[in-house]
Amino acid sequence: MINFAYARAGDATDAIRLMAAAPGAKFIAGGTNLIDLMKVNVERPARLIDISRLPLKSVEETAGGGLRIGALVPNSDLAYHPLIQKRYPLVGSAILAGASQQLRNMATTGGNLLQRTRCAYFYDTATPCNKRQPGSGCAAREGLNRGHAILGTSEHCIAVHPSDMCVALAALAAEVHVLGPKGERRIAFADFHRLAGSTPERDSNLDPGEIITAVELPAKGFAANYSYLKIRDRLSYAFALISVAAALEVENGTIKDARLALGGVAHKPWRRPEVEAALKGERADEAVFARAADLLLHDARGFGHNDFKIDLARRAILRTLGQAARGEPQSQSDKKIR
Ligand SMILES: Cc1cc2nc3c(=O)[nH]c(=O)nc-3n(C[C@H](O)[C@H](O)[C@H](O)COP(=O)(O)OP(=O)(O)OC[C@H]3O[C@@H](n4cnc5c(N)ncnc54)[C@H](O)[C@@H]3O)c2cc1C
Ligand code: SF4
Repeated sequence: MINFAYARAGDATDAIRLMAAAPGAKFIAGGTNLIDLMKVNVERPARLIDISRLPLKSVEETAGGGLRIGALVPNSDLAYHPLIQKRYPLVGSAILAGASQQLRNMATTGGNLLQRTRCAYFYDTATPCNKRQPGSGCAAREGLNRGHAILGTSEHCIAVHPSDMCVALAALAAEVHVLGPKGERRIAFADFHRLAGSTPERDSNLDPGEIITAVELPAKGFAANYSYLKIRDRLSYAFALISVAAALEVENGTIKDARLALGGVAHKPWRRPEVEAALKGERADEAVFARAADLLLHDARGFGHNDFKIDLARRAILRTLGQAARGEPQSQSDKKIR
């Protein structure tokens, strides 16, 4: 373990001030990802700024009918919050598909957004990795890439974003509230995470010194017709090979509104507005879902070990849209299995 200095912030403004005074410092919230990365020498912050006690732990309804979730709301509290269960069950299902109960008790809303990729080469400092050490190469392209991206890849990095919750937040078009040295701003969820491009070391569009203060959900939660399906090597405690968040508004068998996002396939949750637009006004049937899947996966390409993910994603999309249309989410099937 490396040596580091430690400071505890009193409020969000104090956290920004402490960060500005110590370039190379990192915020620590639940610590479930950052501490692991420090143990393997991937993250080496000179100073940790503890934000875990900041007063950002409430879930409040907004004037516009949405929900404002404080950045330090633990993943467990959020998943079981009555307003999430009633109005945004897609978010609750996605959270509960991730990690373990103990981890979810520690993990925070803001930390979940900024957790780093699980690419094994990123964790292994003996191998080249452009994300860990820009310019060193990408060991995954010619290496073991079974869990890697099939969409939006670059020659510099084919890693995927590992979060489940973020796939649901992407589908519901959440907004991220941030505070930084230049003041407050909001970032649309679609613009929060980045594709790897030529700068895979940057996961998000958060500027240096900025802190996430909240995530806001819009009024529309698609609580009647939704499903989150996560395909993984084990039923629990494993990251997604493919995940699908589907949310529909269906009237007399016709799709009035649609949301579709994929996890485990790209450097960020993968959502394409043109695919959702193509679903609107169509019958909620398998032929329409198949066309949507083909459109969403049109540019997918594998790197050898992960070629199977393209067909897996297609079948997962069909299944999840069907579950959403019938009002039978995957979380209900999971309960039957248990
Ligand atoms: C064994 C294991 C299995 C897991 N399985 C899954 C899974 O299946 N699905 C899934 O989605 N996740 C999974 N996770 C990941 C887990 O959800 C994340 O580690 C967790 O959400 C991170 O939150 P945290 O508060 O602990 O973040 P921390 O570890 O404290 O921080 C993570 C990063 O975010 C930054 N940060 C934290 N909060 C803020 C903020 N408010 N503003 C600015 N920067 C901030 C930190 O500086 C750090 O860079 C797993 C983790 C483990 C260890
Ligand atoms: S895929 Fe990205 S994270 Fe993995 S080795 Fe390549 S550059 Fe590093």
